[in-house]
Amino acid sequence: MATSPAASARDILTGLHDIMAKRGSAQAKLDRVVDLIAEAMGSDVCSIYLLRDNNLELFATHGLRKEAVHVTRLRMGEGLVGTIAAQGRILNLAEAADHPAFAYRPETGEERFHSFAGVPIVRLESPIGVLAVQHAEPRGYEEVEIEALQTVAMVLSEMIAGARLVDGARRGRLRSAGPLRLSGLKLVAGMAKGQAVFHEPRVVVEHTVAEDIEAERTRVYAAFRKMREQIDNMARDAEFGTTGEHQEILETYRMFAYDEGWSRRINEAIDSGLTAEAAIERVQQRTRARMQEIDDPLLQERMHDLEDLSNRLLRIVSGRMGTAAQTGLAHDAVLIARNLGPAELLEYDRRRLKAVLLEEGSLTSHMVIVARAIGVPVIGRLHDIRHSVEDGETILVDGDNGSVIIRPNRQLATGFEHRMMLSQKRRAEFAAARTLAAKTLDGVGVSVMVNAGLAEDAASLAMTGADGIGLFRTEFQFLVSATLPGRERQQRLYTRVLKEVGDKPVVFRTVDIGGDKALPYLSDDAEEKAENPAMGWRALRLSLDRSTLMRAQARALIEASAGKVLRVMFPMVSEPWEYEQARALFEEQVEWAKKAHRKVPKQILFGAMLEVPSLAEMLDQLLPRLDFLSIGTNDLTQFLFAADRSDPRLAQRYDWLSPAILRFLKRVLRAAGEADVPVRICGEMAGRPLEAMALIGIGAENFSITPAGVGPVKAMVRSLDAGAVRKRLNQLLERPPKDMRKALADWARRHNVTIG
Ligand code: PEP
Ligand code: MG
Repeated sequence: MATSPAASARDILTGLHDIMAKRGSAQAKLDRVVDLIAEAMGSDVCSIYLLRDNNLELFATHGLRKEAVHVTRLRMGEGLVGTIAAQGRILNLAEAADHPAFAYRPETGEERFHSFAGVPIVRLESPIGVLAVQHAEPRGYEEVEIEALQTVAMVLSEMIAGARLVDGARRGRLRSAGPLRLSGLKLVAGMAKGQAVFHEPRVVVEHTVAEDIEAERTRVYAAFRKMREQIDNMARDAEFGTTGEHQEILETYRMFAYDEGWSRRINEAIDSGLTAEAAIERVQQRTRARMQEIDDPLLQERMHDLEDLSNRLLRIVSGRMGTAAQTGLAHDAVLIARNLGPAELLEYDRRRLKAVLLEEGSLTSHMVIVARAIGVPVIGRLHDIRHSVEDGETILVDGDNGSVIIRPNRQLATGFEHRMMLSQKRRAEFAAARTLAAKTLDGVGVSVMVNAGLAEDAASLAMTGADGIGLFRTEFQFLVSATLPGRERQQRLYTRVLKEVGDKPVVFRTVDIGGDKALPYLSDDAEEKAENPAMGWRALRLSLDRSTLMRAQARALIEASAGKVLRVMFPMVSEPWEYEQARALFEEQVEWAKKAHRKVPKQILFGAMLEVPSLAEMLDQLLPRLDFLSIGTNDLTQFLFAADRSDPRLAQRYDWLSPAILRFLKRVLRAAGEADVPVRICGEMAGRPLEAMALIGIGAENFSITPAGVGPVKAMVRSLDAGAVRKRLNQLLERPPKDMRKALADWARRHNVTIG
């Protein structure tokens, strides 16, 4: 046996290359391969077992009895060979018979051989066979010998897959796992069915044996350089919050990307005769095997980071850098990613993108807001999803419950389809009822508008029968652009939206960016990274400080609304002077436009968003100056409860139906009512029928909600007696029950209110 693993493996690889290049049957090639390995390694036995019909079948051997070939079979997990395949690990034994899993097979005549070393043959991360060597004398195998075996196993896997000696390359671990149900965090509701598509597709290594080692080395060096550059750029972008990745992950990426040990091991694998792709994969397999031995969740996490990076390196070296969006979706797809940015999401064909599953993600991430706007269900915090599913496998997504079923069996699929059908039927009923007015049984009219942010959203008005756009989040255009959208681009968007909605009103909210929605083109080098971005320099605070930006937006809105009514509101107003200043800025722009003989809106209605509790104490000052008030319950609840709205640990802790929120909102509604200022409730709360019912109970009559909520909320309204629910809410808020949600749901049921 040669002392250098590279030299020893290279000898075998050269031989393998020759065997593979020559004509002949797959069986004849395998017979020659075992002879070659036995000779190069000086072993008495070399055997190849391959997975067929869920058994590991002896396909070729040098040293065991030939009669055993295609006769000896071991189940997954049975014997030494079955253990290696089932667990995807190496066995290195001086005395094979001493191992508890040892299963004696007399037809092989293996009793003469004491020592045993075996490695899995892996394809697409799943074992498809085992390569084993044996010696007559008891001896442990050296690391270099195991290394050589692993390298050879890798090349064999290419040859085996090419010759179709196993039934597809997707056998083993995942397949045998059967259906899998996972639960995550519900981010965007909805049900969907599709085939798994990885946002960052995995590369299947096709050529393993190098023709020119130096050329492979150059390729891998170049790929490392490019990868490091990309990671550095991502880290820079992350500081501005434009990538989907978290800072912490990027730091780990960076650590691995610059790890000399990793690049050295890849180089050594190239020395042994592998192509750059095969070398990267080979090192990754080895790391994976080592990590499996260590039962440490923290290390496992890091392992995933390294997997990501290794995959990235593979994609760079093989020139397959694009995401699945660039390749296009060929069928109904469930997109799988660790995390995703809003722009990346929008690159996908919306007709085929049925759902998104993320390992991370939070309710307020931009991507989630965009997904909600375009009606794509999203489930986040699905631990290890990328390693629990394979490309093309069927996935059933229940975004209503935050769960997914991978590889469903017939029974699970039938149950799911039944639920999905009911949900579609409900949606069709809502669609059919879209022209019906949202009027309660006792004749109270409720205005139901939608939240929007993209030009295409205007279509949701016709589809849902909503009364208008009650919240147009203008920052969406900024979030999905690589550069700052200038006045003209903004104006084009606003003009288009106004044209598409026709006579229905649109309430434009000036940009709510900054804090966690920071944009690179708006950054200030001197800025400190905010500890608590939601409470930071965002929304109107930023707009007032960056008045050039706000002026451009004001002009875009004013010119787009020429001759029409412009409805504009300001986010995160904390004190009345902020509203005054913003309003004055708009009024100045109108004066300017008039002087320049430009057409101006026939009327401007100004509103403020109440999202910061302090404003509620100043309503007596503010209300006389307002044309309307809008309550943003998403931010308001996080500030009232001092509970970060993006922290999943708090997601279930405080209820929107808590007496604290309802009492607070009731006071605001009353104050606005007395001042004759209309109030609209936007935010996710009002999009849920039970919550909307409670809001009507405290006097709310105008909502702006997610388009998917329009049908259910209107149906609820039509089944409700507003007078009765108001009476009930008065009682409940006077003496709050322990469980307000239950009390309200019970009441709704008793009074036949449709709450879904
Ligand atoms: C809110 O805070 O409730 C709201 C509607 O605004 P956003 O979700 O965009 O912050
Ligand atoms: Mg808000």
